[in-house]
Amino acid sequence: MRIVQKFGGTSVGSLERIRRTADLVQAEIGRGNEVAVVVSAMSGETNRLIGMARELSPAPAGREMDALVATGEQVTAALLSIELQARGIFAYSCSGAQAGFRTDSQHARARIKHIDSAHLIRHMQAGQVPVVTGFQGVDEHGNVTTLGRGGSDTSAVALAVAVKADVCDIYTDVDGVYTTDPRIVPRARKIDRISYEEMLEFASLGAKVLQTRSVELAMRYDMPIHLRSSFEPVPGTIVSREDDTMERAVISGVAYNRDEAKITIRGIPDHPGIAANVFGPVAEAAINVDVIVQNVSEQGYTDITFTVPRDDFGTTMDIMHKLCGEMQARDVLGDDTVAKVSVIGVGMRSHSGVAKKMFDVLAGEGINIQMISTSEIKITVVIDESQVDRAVQALHTAFGLDAEESEG
Ligand code: ADP
Ligand code: ASP
Ligand code: MG
Repeated sequence: MRIVQKFGGTSVGSLERIRRTADLVQAEIGRGNEVAVVVSAMSGETNRLIGMARELSPAPAGREMDALVATGEQVTAALLSIELQARGIFAYSCSGAQAGFRTDSQHARARIKHIDSAHLIRHMQAGQVPVVTGFQGVDEHGNVTTLGRGGSDTSAVALAVAVKADVCDIYTDVDGVYTTDPRIVPRARKIDRISYEEMLEFASLGAKVLQTRSVELAMRYDMPIHLRSSFEPVPGTIVSREDDTMERAVISGVAYNRDEAKITIRGIPDHPGIAANVFGPVAEAAINVDVIVQNVSEQGYTDITFTVPRDDFGTTMDIMHKLCGEMQARDVLGDDTVAKVSVIGVGMRSHSGVAKKMFDVLAGEGINIQMISTSEIKITVVIDESQVDRAVQALHTAFGLDAEESEG
C-alpha cells in the first residue's frame, strides 16, 4: 500500500511525542508500505508566532506573516526526520516549496494549484520517506504561502491525491470523528464511518477536526481519510464514499463555531440592488459571508444582518461604515461575541419537525436565537457565544446522540 500519514500539532508537540510519531511511521514501513509524512507545527506554535507579530504591528504584511508561520512546520519536519534517520530509516524533510506545492498568491488563504510529485513518488518507491511540512506552499514568484488555519489536513489530502496513495491517515488527539466535539460533550459517540458529504457539513459548520478544504479535496478525488489517534492504537473513523454500512440516523451530529461575528446595517432605503451593493465590496475583500437575513423594517426601509469570520470583523465593519454613508442608511451595528450551532444529518431530508425540536430545546435552556439558516441536511442558529456549551450539550442529548452509560 501507499500511505500518506499526517500528524497534527499535539502528535508532534514534544520530543517524546515526536518519538511516538516515529514509531507509527516505522510501523507502516515495517509492514512494507510506501510512506510519505505530512506534519503540523508543534501545538501552540502557530499561535505563538502570530502573537509575536501582533506585538510588533497591528497589521503585519501577509507575505511576512506567511514567512513567519511557515517556520513552525519546518521545525517539526526536520526533528521527525532526524529521529527517523537515527533509527536507520531513509527519511528527509521537505518544505512546501521543496515538496513541489505550487499555490496562488493569496497569503494566509492560498489555494494549491498543483503539486510536482514525480520526485516524491520515485523516492517513496525506493523506500525513502519524504517528511513534508503541512500548511504551506510557494507561489509563482517564489513567495512562501500558507493555506489557512488547520491547513495541514489539506496538504495531506492533496499530497495523497498527488502521489496516488491508497489512503490518507490523519493522526490527531482524538480517536475519530465524534457526534460532537468531545471536549464539550464527554458523552459524544465515535462515528465509525461517515460519508464525504456529511463530513463536509461537519467541517464547514465548525468541527475543526478536519479542515473543510481537505474534505472537499477528498470528496472530489475519492481519497478515503482514516482519522485516528496518535495516542491510542484503536481504529478511527473512515471518511469515504457513502455506502450501505453507514448508519442513517436523522441527526448524525452537532457542530459549533465560535469564530463568528454579526453585523447589521439598518435603515437602508429599499430598492432593487441594495443586497448587491452591500455584499459586493465584502466579496472584493475576499471575505466569506455566511448567514444572511434581510427584513423590511419600516415603510421603504430595510435591514440586512449577516455573519463573517471573526478575524474579518474589523475590515467588514470599516467597509459597512463607508457604505452606510454612501447608501444613506441609518446605522451599522456589530457584535463579535456570537457563535453558530448546527445540527446535521442526511436523515433530515425525509423527516420533518427537526427545526421545531431544535428551537424547543434552545428555548427550554433560555437561549435566544438571533438568526436561523437551513439547508436540506442541516439547521444552523446564531446565538450568544457564552451559551454555546449549553446549547451543544442540550441538543446532543435531545437528539439521542449521547453514548450509553456503559460505553461512555
Ligand atoms: P490537530 O492538531 O491534530 O490537527 P485539531 O485540534 O485541529 O488537531 O483537531 C482535533 C480536535 O478537534 C479534537 O481535539 C476535538 O476537540 C476537536 N473536534 C471538534 N469537533 C469534533 C468532532 N465532531 N469529532 C472529533 N473531534 C472534534
Ligand atoms: N500549524 C497550522 C495551524 O495551527 C496548520 C495546522 O496545524 O494544520 O493552523
Ligand atoms: Mg487540525
